[in-house]
Amino acid sequence: MTAKEIYLDNSATTRVFPEVAELVSRIFLEEYGNPSSMHHKGVEAERELRRAKELLSGILKCQPKNLIFTSCGTESDNLAIIGCARANCRRGRHLITTKVEHPAVLEAMRQLEGEGFEIRYLPVDRDGRVSPEQVTEVLREDTILVSVMHTNNEIGAVEPVAEIGAAIKAKNPDTLFHVDAVQAFGKAQIVPRKLHADLVAVSGHKIHAPKGVGLLYVGDGVKIQPLLHGGGQQGGLRSGTENVAGIAGMALAAKRLYEHLEEDRECLFAMKAHFLEKALAIPEVSVNGRAGKDSAPQVISLSVPGVRAEVLLHALEDRGIYVSSGSACSSNRPHRSATLEAIGTPEERMDNTIRLSTSVLNRMEDMDAAAAALAELIPMLRRYTRG
Ligand code: PLP
Repeated sequence: MTAKEIYLDNSATTRVFPEVAELVSRIFLEEYGNPSSMHHKGVEAERELRRAKELLSGILKCQPKNLIFTSCGTESDNLAIIGCARANCRRGRHLITTKVEHPAVLEAMRQLEGEGFEIRYLPVDRDGRVSPEQVTEVLREDTILVSVMHTNNEIGAVEPVAEIGAAIKAKNPDTLFHVDAVQAFGKAQIVPRKLHADLVAVSGHKIHAPKGVGLLYVGDGVKIQPLLHGGGQQGGLRSGTENVAGIAGMALAAKRLYEHLEEDRECLFAMKAHFLEKALAIPEVSVNGRAGKDSAPQVISLSVPGVRAEVLLHALEDRGIYVSSGSACSSNRPHRSATLEAIGTPEERMDNTIRLSTSVLNRMEDMDAAAAALAELIPMLRRYTRG
Protein backbone atom coordinates (compact mmCIF):
# COMPACT_ATOMS: atom_id res chain seq x y z
CA MET A 1 0.00 0.00 0.00
CA THR A 2 1.37 3.43 -0.85
CA ALA A 3 1.29 6.10 1.83
CA LYS A 4 -0.85 9.19 1.33
CA GLU A 5 0.77 11.74 -0.95
CA ILE A 6 1.26 15.19 0.50
CA TYR A 7 1.63 17.69 -2.30
CA LEU A 8 3.28 20.90 -1.13
CA ASP A 9 4.53 22.24 -4.46
CA ASN A 10 1.48 24.26 -5.48
CA SER A 11 3.49 27.28 -6.60
CA ALA A 12 5.01 25.04 -9.28
CA THR A 13 1.63 23.75 -10.36
CA THR A 14 -1.66 22.58 -8.88
CA ARG A 15 -3.98 19.62 -9.08
CA VAL A 16 -6.95 20.39 -11.32
CA PHE A 17 -10.23 20.71 -9.38
CA PRO A 18 -12.50 17.70 -10.16
CA GLU A 19 -15.33 19.93 -11.41
CA VAL A 20 -12.85 21.73 -13.68
CA ALA A 21 -11.61 18.41 -15.08
CA GLU A 22 -15.23 17.44 -15.69
CA LEU A 23 -15.99 20.67 -17.56
CA VAL A 24 -12.79 20.46 -19.62
CA SER A 25 -13.54 16.88 -20.53
CA ARG A 26 -17.12 17.77 -21.54
CA ILE A 27 -15.84 20.52 -23.82
CA PHE A 28 -13.22 18.16 -25.33
CA LEU A 29 -15.92 15.63 -26.10
CA GLU A 30 -18.99 17.73 -26.86
CA GLU A 31 -18.38 21.46 -27.37
CA TYR A 32 -15.21 20.89 -29.35
CA GLY A 33 -15.93 23.36 -32.15
CA ASN A 34 -13.63 26.14 -33.26
CA PRO A 35 -15.00 29.38 -31.80
CA SER A 36 -14.33 31.09 -35.16
CA SER A 37 -16.55 28.62 -37.06
CA MET A 38 -19.92 29.96 -38.13
CA HIS A 39 -21.93 26.78 -37.56
CA HIS A 40 -23.57 25.56 -34.39
CA LYS A 41 -20.45 23.81 -33.02
CA GLY A 42 -18.51 27.05 -33.38
CA VAL A 43 -21.24 29.08 -31.74
CA GLU A 44 -21.27 26.65 -28.78
CA ALA A 45 -17.53 27.03 -28.31
CA GLU A 46 -17.77 30.79 -28.71
CA ARG A 47 -20.41 30.82 -25.99
CA GLU A 48 -17.99 29.06 -23.63
CA LEU A 49 -15.37 31.74 -24.35
CA ARG A 50 -17.86 34.52 -23.70
CA ARG A 51 -18.99 32.89 -20.44
CA ALA A 52 -15.37 32.55 -19.29
CA LYS A 53 -14.65 36.18 -20.15
CA GLU A 54 -17.68 37.36 -18.22
CA LEU A 55 -16.72 35.34 -15.17
CA LEU A 56 -13.10 36.47 -15.19
CA SER A 57 -13.90 40.11 -15.91
CA GLY A 58 -16.33 40.02 -12.97
CA ILE A 59 -13.53 38.83 -10.68
CA LEU A 60 -11.05 41.41 -12.01
CA LYS A 61 -13.78 44.09 -12.03
CA CYS A 62 -13.04 45.07 -15.61
CA GLN A 63 -14.76 44.77 -18.99
CA PRO A 64 -14.64 41.47 -20.92
CA LYS A 65 -12.93 43.36 -23.77
CA ASN A 66 -9.95 44.00 -21.48
CA LEU A 67 -9.01 40.29 -21.42
CA ILE A 68 -6.71 38.37 -23.76
CA PHE A 69 -6.35 34.61 -23.42
CA THR A 70 -2.83 33.21 -23.79
CA SER A 71 -1.11 29.84 -23.40
CA CYS A 72 0.49 30.48 -19.98
CA GLY A 73 1.76 33.08 -17.52
CA THR A 74 5.02 33.30 -19.45
CA GLU A 75 3.21 34.29 -22.64
CA SER A 76 1.12 36.85 -20.74
CA ASP A 77 4.26 38.45 -19.24
CA ASN A 78 6.04 38.41 -22.61
CA LEU A 79 3.09 39.92 -24.44
CA ALA A 80 2.70 42.65 -21.82
CA ILE A 81 6.38 43.60 -21.73
CA ILE A 82 7.65 42.99 -25.25
CA GLY A 83 4.31 43.87 -26.89
CA CYS A 84 4.04 47.20 -25.06
CA ALA A 85 7.72 48.11 -25.41
CA ARG A 86 7.63 47.60 -29.18
CA ALA A 87 4.31 49.43 -29.57
CA ASN A 88 5.45 52.41 -27.48
CA CYS A 89 9.11 52.70 -28.50
CA ARG A 90 8.58 56.11 -30.12
CA ARG A 91 7.73 57.54 -26.68
CA GLY A 92 10.84 56.08 -25.04
CA ARG A 93 13.07 53.07 -24.63
CA HIS A 94 13.42 52.91 -20.83
CA LEU A 95 11.82 50.21 -18.63
CA ILE A 96 12.03 49.44 -14.91
CA THR A 97 11.67 46.11 -13.12
CA THR A 98 13.04 44.35 -10.02
CA LYS A 99 15.77 41.79 -9.49
CA VAL A 100 13.31 39.26 -8.03
CA GLU A 101 10.96 38.83 -10.98
CA HIS A 102 10.25 35.43 -12.51
CA PRO A 103 12.33 34.56 -15.61
CA ALA A 104 9.14 35.13 -17.66
CA VAL A 105 9.69 38.84 -16.93
CA LEU A 106 13.49 38.95 -16.61
CA GLU A 107 14.12 37.11 -19.88
CA ALA A 108 11.56 39.27 -21.71
CA MET A 109 13.53 42.29 -20.45
CA ARG A 110 16.80 40.72 -21.66
CA GLN A 111 15.22 40.26 -25.08
CA LEU A 112 14.37 43.98 -25.10
CA GLU A 113 17.93 44.87 -24.10
CA GLY A 114 19.02 43.08 -27.24
CA GLU A 115 16.63 45.32 -29.19
CA GLY A 116 18.23 48.47 -27.78
CA PHE A 117 15.95 49.17 -24.81
CA GLU A 118 17.46 50.24 -21.49
CA ILE A 119 16.32 48.29 -18.44
CA ARG A 120 16.72 49.27 -14.79
CA TYR A 121 16.69 46.30 -12.39
CA LEU A 122 15.82 47.49 -8.88
CA PRO A 123 17.31 45.82 -5.80
CA VAL A 124 15.04 44.65 -2.97
CA ASP A 125 15.31 44.67 0.83
CA ARG A 126 16.06 41.60 2.97
CA ASP A 127 12.39 40.60 2.75
CA GLY A 128 12.39 40.77 -1.05
CA ARG A 129 10.41 44.00 -1.25
CA VAL A 130 10.87 47.08 -3.39
CA SER A 131 9.42 50.44 -2.33
CA PRO A 132 7.38 52.98 -4.34
CA GLU A 133 10.13 55.56 -3.65
CA GLN A 134 12.75 53.31 -5.26
CA VAL A 135 10.59 53.14 -8.37
CA THR A 136 9.82 56.86 -8.62
CA GLU A 137 13.47 57.77 -7.99
CA VAL A 138 14.48 56.12 -11.26
CA LEU A 139 11.25 56.80 -13.19
CA ARG A 140 11.98 59.07 -16.16
CA GLU A 141 9.98 60.96 -18.71
CA ASP A 142 10.91 58.31 -21.28
CA THR A 143 10.07 55.31 -19.02
CA ILE A 144 7.46 53.45 -21.04
CA LEU A 145 6.79 50.56 -18.68
CA VAL A 146 7.37 49.40 -15.10
CA SER A 147 6.93 45.70 -14.26
CA VAL A 148 6.65 44.56 -10.63
CA MET A 149 5.34 41.18 -9.50
CA HIS A 150 2.52 40.99 -6.96
CA THR A 151 3.74 37.88 -5.12
CA ASN A 152 7.19 36.40 -5.36
CA ASN A 153 7.22 32.72 -6.33
CA GLU A 154 10.31 31.79 -4.30
CA ILE A 155 9.88 33.41 -0.90
CA GLY A 156 6.29 34.67 -1.03
CA ALA A 157 7.15 38.36 -0.66
CA VAL A 158 4.13 40.54 -1.44
CA GLU A 159 5.15 43.74 -3.18
CA PRO A 160 3.32 47.01 -2.45
CA VAL A 161 1.97 47.07 -6.00
CA ALA A 162 -1.01 49.38 -5.36
CA GLU A 163 1.29 51.98 -3.80
CA ILE A 164 3.85 51.54 -6.58
CA GLY A 165 1.13 51.93 -9.22
CA ALA A 166 -0.20 55.11 -7.57
CA ALA A 167 3.32 56.57 -7.30
CA ILE A 168 4.08 55.85 -10.97
CA LYS A 169 0.85 57.44 -12.19
CA ALA A 170 1.36 60.50 -9.98
CA LYS A 171 4.78 61.14 -11.47
CA ASN A 172 4.28 60.02 -15.06
CA PRO A 173 0.73 59.01 -16.04
CA ASP A 174 1.97 57.86 -19.46
CA THR A 175 4.19 55.12 -17.99
CA LEU A 176 2.48 51.74 -18.24
CA PHE A 177 2.39 49.52 -15.14
CA HIS A 178 2.50 45.73 -15.53
CA VAL A 179 1.84 43.41 -12.58
CA ASP A 180 2.80 39.73 -12.75
CA ALA A 181 -0.01 38.29 -10.62
CA VAL A 182 0.65 34.64 -11.49
CA GLN A 183 1.25 33.65 -7.85
CA ALA A 184 -1.35 36.03 -6.44
CA PHE A 185 -4.44 35.43 -8.55
CA GLY A 186 -6.79 33.11 -6.65
CA LYS A 187 -5.10 33.88 -3.33
CA ALA A 188 -5.62 37.65 -3.11
CA GLN A 189 -8.06 40.20 -4.52
CA ILE A 190 -6.64 41.36 -7.82
CA VAL A 191 -8.40 44.40 -9.21
CA PRO A 192 -6.22 46.07 -11.87
CA ARG A 193 -7.93 49.44 -11.40
CA LYS A 194 -7.12 49.45 -7.67
CA LEU A 195 -3.49 48.56 -8.41
CA HIS A 196 -3.30 51.36 -11.03
CA ALA A 197 -2.18 48.54 -13.35
CA ASP A 198 -2.47 48.72 -17.13
CA LEU A 199 -1.48 45.08 -17.55
CA VAL A 200 -1.90 42.03 -15.28
CA ALA A 201 -0.66 38.49 -16.01
CA VAL A 202 -2.39 35.34 -14.74
CA SER A 203 -1.76 31.61 -15.29
CA GLY A 204 -4.33 28.79 -15.27
CA HIS A 205 -2.27 25.92 -13.90
CA LYS A 206 -1.46 27.78 -10.67
CA ILE A 207 -5.16 27.94 -9.80
CA HIS A 208 -6.29 24.32 -10.25
CA ALA A 209 -7.02 24.70 -13.97
CA PRO A 210 -5.13 22.81 -16.70
CA LYS A 211 -1.70 23.73 -18.01
CA GLY A 212 -1.60 25.57 -21.33
CA VAL A 213 -3.79 28.54 -20.55
CA GLY A 214 -3.16 32.06 -19.27
CA LEU A 215 -4.72 35.47 -19.20
CA LEU A 216 -3.57 39.02 -19.75
CA TYR A 217 -5.57 42.03 -18.61
CA VAL A 218 -4.96 44.99 -20.92
CA GLY A 219 -6.39 48.35 -19.85
CA ASP A 220 -8.33 50.65 -22.17
CA GLY A 221 -6.18 52.52 -24.65
CA VAL A 222 -2.98 50.53 -23.93
CA LYS A 223 -1.01 50.11 -27.13
CA ILE A 224 0.35 46.60 -27.57
CA GLN A 225 1.97 44.82 -30.50
CA PRO A 226 1.03 41.15 -30.95
CA LEU A 227 3.72 38.49 -30.60
CA LEU A 228 1.80 35.91 -32.64
CA HIS A 229 0.65 36.62 -36.18
CA GLY A 230 -1.96 34.61 -38.02
CA GLY A 231 -5.72 34.35 -38.18
CA GLY A 232 -6.39 37.54 -36.24
CA GLN A 233 -8.24 35.98 -33.29
CA GLN A 234 -8.81 38.09 -30.16
CA GLY A 235 -8.89 41.35 -32.05
CA GLY A 236 -5.61 40.52 -33.78
CA LEU A 237 -3.73 40.78 -30.46
CA ARG A 238 -3.26 37.05 -30.07
CA SER A 239 -3.71 34.98 -33.20
CA GLY A 240 -4.23 31.25 -32.76
CA THR A 241 -7.31 29.14 -32.09
CA GLU A 242 -8.34 29.66 -28.50
CA ASN A 243 -7.87 26.83 -25.97
CA VAL A 244 -11.60 26.79 -25.26
CA ALA A 245 -11.57 23.94 -22.74
CA GLY A 246 -8.60 25.37 -20.84
CA ILE A 247 -10.10 28.86 -20.81
CA ALA A 248 -13.46 27.60 -19.51
CA GLY A 249 -11.59 25.53 -16.91
CA MET A 250 -9.55 28.54 -15.79
CA ALA A 251 -12.70 30.62 -15.37
CA LEU A 252 -14.45 27.91 -13.34
CA ALA A 253 -11.39 27.39 -11.11
CA ALA A 254 -11.16 31.16 -10.53
CA LYS A 255 -14.88 31.33 -9.71
CA ARG A 256 -14.50 28.59 -7.13
CA LEU A 257 -11.45 30.23 -5.53
CA TYR A 258 -12.98 33.71 -5.40
CA GLU A 259 -16.24 32.46 -3.87
CA HIS A 260 -14.34 31.54 -0.68
CA LEU A 261 -11.31 33.78 -0.92
CA GLU A 262 -11.28 35.24 2.59
CA GLU A 263 -11.95 31.94 4.42
CA ASP A 264 -9.38 30.16 2.27
CA ARG A 265 -6.76 32.85 2.91
CA GLU A 266 -7.36 32.46 6.65
CA CYS A 267 -6.91 28.68 6.38
CA LEU A 268 -3.72 29.03 4.34
CA PHE A 269 -2.29 31.57 6.81
CA ALA A 270 -3.23 29.29 9.73
CA MET A 271 -1.49 26.32 8.07
CA LYS A 272 1.59 28.44 7.41
CA ALA A 273 1.78 29.72 10.99
CA HIS A 274 1.21 26.25 12.43
CA PHE A 275 3.88 24.71 10.22
CA LEU A 276 6.40 27.46 10.93
CA GLU A 277 5.95 27.17 14.68
CA LYS A 278 7.08 23.56 14.42
CA ALA A 279 9.69 23.95 11.67
CA LEU A 280 11.42 26.91 13.30
CA ALA A 281 11.88 24.84 16.46
CA ILE A 282 14.32 22.65 14.50
CA PRO A 283 17.85 23.94 15.27
CA GLU A 284 19.24 26.51 12.79
CA VAL A 285 16.20 26.38 10.50
CA SER A 286 15.07 29.85 9.42
CA VAL A 287 12.41 31.34 7.19
CA ASN A 288 13.24 33.57 4.22
CA GLY A 289 11.25 36.77 3.88
CA ARG A 290 8.29 37.81 5.97
CA ALA A 291 6.03 35.11 7.33
CA GLY A 292 3.03 37.03 8.67
CA LYS A 293 -0.12 38.36 7.05
CA ASP A 294 1.93 40.73 4.91
CA SER A 295 3.38 37.73 3.06
CA ALA A 296 1.80 35.24 0.64
CA PRO A 297 -0.42 32.81 2.55
CA GLN A 298 0.71 29.85 0.45
CA VAL A 299 4.52 30.15 0.15
CA ILE A 300 7.04 29.07 2.80
CA SER A 301 10.76 29.33 2.09
CA LEU A 302 13.05 27.63 4.60
CA SER A 303 16.81 27.71 4.92
CA VAL A 304 18.23 24.52 6.38
CA PRO A 305 21.99 24.92 6.95
CA GLY A 306 23.98 21.71 6.75
CA VAL A 307 21.58 19.91 4.40
CA ARG A 308 21.52 20.26 0.62
CA ALA A 309 18.06 21.17 -0.59
CA GLU A 310 18.09 18.48 -3.25
CA VAL A 311 18.93 15.77 -0.71
CA LEU A 312 16.18 16.94 1.63
CA LEU A 313 13.70 17.16 -1.26
CA HIS A 314 14.32 13.52 -2.21
CA ALA A 315 14.27 12.34 1.40
CA LEU A 316 10.85 13.98 1.78
CA GLU A 317 9.77 12.49 -1.54
CA ASP A 318 10.57 9.03 -0.17
CA ARG A 319 7.89 9.74 2.42
CA GLY A 320 5.40 10.92 -0.18
CA ILE A 321 5.91 14.62 0.59
CA TYR A 322 6.53 16.83 -2.44
CA VAL A 323 8.29 20.18 -2.05
CA SER A 324 10.71 22.10 -4.24
CA SER A 325 14.23 23.36 -3.87
CA GLY A 326 14.29 27.15 -3.93
CA SER A 327 12.15 27.72 -6.99
CA ALA A 328 11.05 24.80 -9.18
CA CYS A 329 8.82 26.65 -11.53
CA SER A 330 11.24 28.07 -14.05
CA SER A 331 12.86 24.85 -15.24
CA ASN A 332 14.60 21.77 -13.95
CA ARG A 333 17.98 23.12 -14.98
CA PRO A 334 20.16 23.78 -11.97
CA HIS A 335 20.27 27.54 -11.60
CA ARG A 336 21.12 30.13 -9.01
CA SER A 337 18.10 31.75 -7.51
CA ALA A 338 18.04 35.45 -8.40
CA THR A 339 15.61 36.09 -5.54
CA LEU A 340 17.75 34.42 -2.85
CA GLU A 341 20.76 36.32 -4.18
CA ALA A 342 18.83 39.61 -4.18
CA ILE A 343 17.74 39.26 -0.54
CA GLY A 344 21.38 38.74 0.44
CA THR A 345 21.35 35.00 1.21
CA PRO A 346 24.92 34.04 2.19
CA GLU A 347 26.73 31.94 -0.41
CA GLU A 348 26.93 28.89 1.85
CA ARG A 349 23.15 28.88 2.23
CA MET A 350 22.23 29.16 -1.43
CA ASP A 351 21.92 25.38 -1.79
CA ASN A 352 20.10 24.90 1.52
CA THR A 353 16.72 26.37 0.72
CA ILE A 354 13.48 24.49 0.19
CA ARG A 355 10.08 25.88 -0.69
CA LEU A 356 6.77 24.48 0.48
CA SER A 357 3.68 25.86 -1.19
CA THR A 358 0.16 25.02 -0.14
CA SER A 359 -3.25 25.23 -1.77
CA VAL A 360 -6.88 24.99 -0.74
CA LEU A 361 -6.56 21.23 -1.21
CA ASN A 362 -4.11 20.91 1.72
CA ARG A 363 -5.15 20.26 5.29
CA MET A 364 -3.59 20.99 8.67
CA GLU A 365 -2.51 17.35 9.02
CA ASP A 366 -0.38 17.75 5.87
CA MET A 367 1.53 20.51 7.64
CA ASP A 368 1.93 18.35 10.76
CA ALA A 369 3.26 15.48 8.66
CA ALA A 370 5.70 17.74 6.76
CA ALA A 371 6.98 19.37 9.96
CA ALA A 372 7.40 15.97 11.67
CA ALA A 373 9.29 14.60 8.66
CA LEU A 374 11.62 17.61 8.64
CA ALA A 375 12.26 17.32 12.39
CA GLU A 376 13.30 13.71 11.89
CA LEU A 377 15.20 14.05 8.61
CA ILE A 378 17.22 17.22 9.16
CA PRO A 379 19.33 16.01 12.14
CA MET A 380 19.80 12.65 10.41
CA LEU A 381 20.99 14.20 7.13
CA ARG A 382 23.23 16.64 8.96
CA ARG A 383 25.08 13.70 10.50
CA TYR A 384 26.14 12.69 6.97
CA THR A 385 27.31 16.15 5.94
CA ARG A 386 28.80 17.30 9.23
CA GLY A 387 29.96 13.96 10.55
N1 PLP B 1 5.36 34.52 -13.08
C1 PLP B 1 5.48 33.94 -11.87
C2 PLP B 1 5.59 34.79 -10.66
C3 PLP B 1 5.52 32.55 -11.75
O1 PLP B 1 5.67 31.98 -10.57
C4 PLP B 1 5.42 31.76 -12.95
C5 PLP B 1 5.50 30.30 -12.87
O2 PLP B 1 5.92 29.74 -11.92
C6 PLP B 1 5.27 32.42 -14.17
C7 PLP B 1 5.24 33.80 -14.20
C8 PLP B 1 5.13 31.65 -15.44
O3 PLP B 1 3.89 31.02 -15.53
P1 PLP B 1 3.66 29.76 -16.50
O4 PLP B 1 4.27 28.57 -15.81
O5 PLP B 1 2.18 29.64 -16.60
O6 PLP B 1 4.29 30.09 -17.78
